[in-house]
Amino acid sequence: MGSYDEVEIEDMTWNEELQVYQYSCPCGDLFEISLEDLRAGEEIARCPSCSLYITVIYNPEDFQEPPPDAGKAPLPATPAPVPVQ
Ligand SMILES: [Zn+2]
Repeated sequence: MGSYDEVEIEDMTWNEELQVYQYSCPCGDLFEISLEDLRAGEEIARCPSCSLYITVIYNPEDFQEPPPDAGKAPLPATPAPVPVQ
């Protein structure tokens, strides 16, 4: 037994809407791991549709508490201002 694969975080896709990193699962669904999971040191991304999982390769220091400057971390969701006509 082991993980299906090892995937570098750079090869995963950031989903702004769901706030998770995703990676294609052979079953057709997507492996998912959240930013919170990464900050907590979690390295397993699971597929919600099957029993497979992958090991995510990343540098935990990249996912510590929000850096002083925004850096490349995703910005918090803020409602888009309504343009004035
Ligand atoms: Zn799957």
